[in-house]
Amino acid sequence: MEEKHYKIVTVEDYEPYIGKETVERIMRKARKLKDFHIVNVNSTYYGGGVAEVLSSLTLLFNSVGIKTGWRVIQGSPDFFSITKKMHNALQGGKINLTKRKKQIYEDVIYENAIRNHLEHDIVVIHDPQPLPMINHYRKRGPWIWRCHIDLSNPNRNLWYYFKQFVEKYDAVILTLEEYKQKLETPLVFFLPAINPFSIKNRKLTEKEIDERLKHYAIPTDLPLVVQVSRFDRWKDPEGAIKAFKLARREVDCTFVLLGNVATDDPEGAEVYESLIKCKEERIIILSYQDSALVNALQSKAVVVLQKSIREGFGLTVAEAMWKGTPVIGGNVGGIRYQIKSGANGFLVSSVEEAAKWIIQLIKNKKLRETMGQKAKESVRKRFLLTRLLEQYLDLFNSFETNYKLVIK
Ligand code: UDP
Repeated sequence: MEEKHYKIVTVEDYEPYIGKETVERIMRKARKLKDFHIVNVNSTYYGGGVAEVLSSLTLLFNSVGIKTGWRVIQGSPDFFSITKKMHNALQGGKINLTKRKKQIYEDVIYENAIRNHLEHDIVVIHDPQPLPMINHYRKRGPWIWRCHIDLSNPNRNLWYYFKQFVEKYDAVILTLEEYKQKLETPLVFFLPAINPFSIKNRKLTEKEIDERLKHYAIPTDLPLVVQVSRFDRWKDPEGAIKAFKLARREVDCTFVLLGNVATDDPEGAEVYESLIKCKEERIIILSYQDSALVNALQSKAVVVLQKSIREGFGLTVAEAMWKGTPVIGGNVGGIRYQIKSGANGFLVSSVEEAAKWIIQLIKNKKLRETMGQKAKESVRKRFLLTRLLEQYLDLFNSFETNYKLVIK
């Protein structure tokens, strides 16, 4: 029988994109942490940017000799309904933070703390769902809280409640400086990044792209305008559809909205249902978990929208830009750090503006091509996973024996 060879992506594979020197520098930094045992904890194994980054980043860590694991907490539907409300409130929404909600939240986390045995050299807890885990362990190394949410205007009451947990950590990682909160704990800022070798991001052949689109009966006779995002109000799917409808008064095109629902998000199904009524021959709304389809759509699109009204980072923006496709993104959060408006894409604050740029991009092939090239180059320079790996290595190498962080 033929033996199958399994392989994971290594830092050396990135050499064509990042150069030999960077590869060697990363490997040197990694050697200092050789045989460390690290664990990441979050609340969903798929759907959404956090799971996307963790699935590739944890493997890349292992490829440099650092034993890095990934655990996902479990919870009942009422737990996830509460944590989704908390998520929304951290992004500026309202919450009625009752004793009952706090009790369910803390009880479920206590149960998860019993079930997991976090005796690692470094523990990284992602987002608010597993945040109180820290209450139930004696530390054996630094604990880090990595919050991926747009924290520019969190509900004060909720933030005050979370602060008691957050300040037990030895470091906090936020996405942007503008999400900074007043804390005793040292803060650092990391922007997420993409894996250029994954099924979602690797270069597909024309044949592969056409096969995927055909499989889902997506017509390619007219230019494709695409938005890929979880079914979530913050992503403004209605706004994206409105922008498309305005644009098609002037140019013929097809709109595809591809979405999914994360396992920790009970609101997704409702948002999806509410969008079904918008379906038309040229407005295609799909709900599938298929990374190759995401890739095919982002590659084939003439323009990708990410019309969010709040966005921690917006991995979908970097993913589309990596394929040389110009993105029209909401002028919010992390999208602003990826798109330089007018150069490698467009930032917009209204449906009308989005429609205007859809029309321009469909009409002007030259503009599309130059923007697309710039978009790809900016992702190569700033948003590949090796950059994020190196930031984590620097952080892990900066803790002193008492877990104090010394930022140089
Ligand atoms: N995604 C997907 N299928 C979908 C919708 C989204 O695979 O139908 C992926 C998308 O490609 C990206 C991630 O989910 O990798 C979303 O991350 P982002 O940072 O854009 O937003 P989040 O969902 O974390 O708010």
